[in-house]
Amino acid sequence: MLRRAALLQCAWCGNRPGFLRDWFRRYDSCRHCGLAVQRDGEGFELGAATVNVMVTLGALIVAAAIPIASTYPNVDTGLLIAVLGVVALLLPIVLYPFSFTIWFAVELFMDPPSQAALDAADDRVRDILDLNA
Ligand SMILES: [Zn+2]
Repeated sequence: MLRRAALLQCAWCGNRPGFLRDWFRRYDSCRHCGLAVQRDGEGFELGAATVNVMVTLGALIVAAAIPIASTYPNVDTGLLIAVLGVVALLLPIVLYPFSFTIWFAVELFMDPPSQAALDAADDRVRDILDLNA
């Protein structure tokens, strides 16, 4: 499921783009399998934001450690701050859709959908097909 998420596919059915409408917007459910993104109420965005923050912070630590370790004790702090600033600003934008697909995969792994959720997903797919017909 994580491999599918890393490829911006639906973690459940593998369809691309799954529930992603574009880079910054998404549907409430996968357009192929109908599985709802936000299950059991609220909190999906918080999990996705947490994934984004954790990966960004990890990248910042690596981006800081490599030049510090390789140039110590003559670290160019101005350049280091500039590079880290660019990474801190751009990486969350680049990771935005990935954070949602990855968190969706993590949620599906931790809490697989119930039969009722799968039945509701089938109903959503029928509605989507009816709208497109
Ligand atoms: Zn799907």
